[in-house]
Amino acid sequence: MSLPVVAIIGRPNVGKSTFVNRLAGEQTAIVHDEPGVTRDRTYLKAFWRDREFTVVDTGGLIFNDDTEFLPFIRQQAMTALSEASAAILLVDGQTGPNSSDEEIASWLRVQKVPVLLAVNKCESPEQGLMQAAEFWSLGLGEPYPISAIHGSGTGDLLDELINHLPMVQDIPENEEIKIAIVGRPNVGKSSLLNAFVGEERAIVSPISGTTRDAIDTFIERDGHKYRLIDTAGIRRKKSIEYGTEFFSINRAFKAIRRSDVVLLVIDALDGVTDQDQKLAGRIVDEGRACIIVVNKWDAIEKDSHTIYDYQKALEERLHFTEWADTIFVSAQTGQRVEKILELVTSSVESHRRRVSTSVINEVLEDAVHWHSPPVSRGGRQGKIYYGTQVTTAPPTIALFVNESKRFNDNYRRYIERQFRQQLGFKGTPIRILWRSKK
Ligand code: GDP
Ligand code: GDP
Repeated sequence: MSLPVVAIIGRPNVGKSTFVNRLAGEQTAIVHDEPGVTRDRTYLKAFWRDREFTVVDTGGLIFNDDTEFLPFIRQQAMTALSEASAAILLVDGQTGPNSSDEEIASWLRVQKVPVLLAVNKCESPEQGLMQAAEFWSLGLGEPYPISAIHGSGTGDLLDELINHLPMVQDIPENEEIKIAIVGRPNVGKSSLLNAFVGEERAIVSPISGTTRDAIDTFIERDGHKYRLIDTAGIRRKKSIEYGTEFFSINRAFKAIRRSDVVLLVIDALDGVTDQDQKLAGRIVDEGRACIIVVNKWDAIEKDSHTIYDYQKALEERLHFTEWADTIFVSAQTGQRVEKILELVTSSVESHRRRVSTSVINEVLEDAVHWHSPPVSRGGRQGKIYYGTQVTTAPPTIALFVNESKRFNDNYRRYIERQFRQQLGFKGTPIRILWRSKK
C-alpha cells in the first residue's frame, strides 16, 4: 500500500463505518447495526480534491459494554495508528462526550500522529455547533461538526486533513526485501553471496576513509528487489585481530535485527552446532522470517535416505524453528541457489500476511470444540472469547480470554499448532498473546 493511511478511531456506534463509506464512495463496506458483530479493519481508497489516501476503519468490534472492552478497541486502534499519517477521532454529537471518548482522547493525545476531532450526527447546522463545542473538553483542538449520513461538514474536515498527509511520491512504491545471511565462520556465507551476485561484482573495494561497517548489496530477480544486509561483515575474512566468536555473533545479531528474513546457513559437513541454535533462538526472539540453508551439499555422499535422515536430525536440533523451510544447496556449484530467493519471497509473504478476524475465530471455534480448555483445580474453566490478528511481521494474534493463567503451556502449544495447521504461515514465526483482565 503506497497511499498515506488515515485511521478512523472511535467507540462503537458513533458512525465510523458510515463515515468511511461516505469517504470511499461507491466501493463500500457494510454497516452493521447489530451490536456484538465483529468486523475486521477495512481499508478503502478515498480522495479529497486531488489527494488520494487510504482510510482504515478501526471499528473491529461492537460490544454492548464499551468500558469493559475498551482494551480491544484500543488494540485495533493501536495497530491502525502505527501505520497512519493522520487520525480522525469520531464522536457522537447527539450523546455528548462520555468517559470512553475521554479515555480514547487522552490516549490519542500522547501519540505522534496528528489527530482531528469530528463530531458526528450533527445534522442541524445551528445545533451542530453547540453539540460540537462540548467536545473541546477532550483536548484535541477544534471539534468539527459533521453528519456522516448527509455529508455536511465533511468538506472543512477533509480540507484540514489533507494538510497533514505526505505527498504520495514520498512513500516508496515497491519495497525491497531485506535479507540477512548468518552462520558460523566457514559455512559458506561469502560463497553464497557471490553465487547470488556473480563473482565479479561481489568484490567490494571500500572507498578509503569510509567505514567498512554495514555495506549492503542489492540484487533483483523477477521484479523483486532484495537487499543483502551487511555484506561487508560477510566478506570480511575471519580477521585475526578481531577474531573472537563474540564479535561475529554480535554482528550477526545486528544483521538479524535489520532484516525481514534470515538465511541461517549451516555446513552440511558439520551439522547443527550450538552456535547455530543460538542464532536460531535469536531469529525467533526478533520475530524474523527464516530459511535454513544447508550448504556444501555437494560434499556429502548421498544415498536415497540421506536427505530424510538429515532433515530429521535438523528438526531435532532446530525444533524452535520447525516452521522454517529447509533447502539443501551448494554455493560452490550453484545448485538450488536461485531457489533460495523463491523461498525468501514466500516466507516474507507469510511474514506480512494478515488473516481476517472471522477466519481466526473459525479456527479457534474448531480448536476449542475438539479439545476444550483445561479446567483448573478450583473448577473454573479457561474461556476464549475472541481472537484477532493485531499485527504482521511477524503475524501476531491476540486471544481475549477470561483468565490467561488458566491456559497451561500444553494448551497454548495446541492452539498454536491449530493455527499453523489451518492457516500455514510457512517460513515465519507467529506470536500469540493471551490477554485477560486478571
Ligand atoms: P460504528 O460502530 O462507529 O462503525 O457506527 P456505524 O457507522 O455502524 O453507525 C452507528 C449508527 O449511527 C447507525 O445506526 C447509523 O445509521 C448511525 N449514524 C451514523 N452516522 C450518522 C449521522 O451522521 N447522523 C445520524 N443521525 N446517525 C448516524
Ligand atoms: P564464510 O566464512 O561463511 O563466508 O565461508 P566462505 O564462503 O568463505 O567458505 C568457506 C570455505 O568453504 C571455502 O573454502 C569455500 O570454498 C568452501 N565452500 C563454500 N561453499 C561451499 C559448497 O557449497 N561446497 C563446498 N564443497 N565447499 C564450499
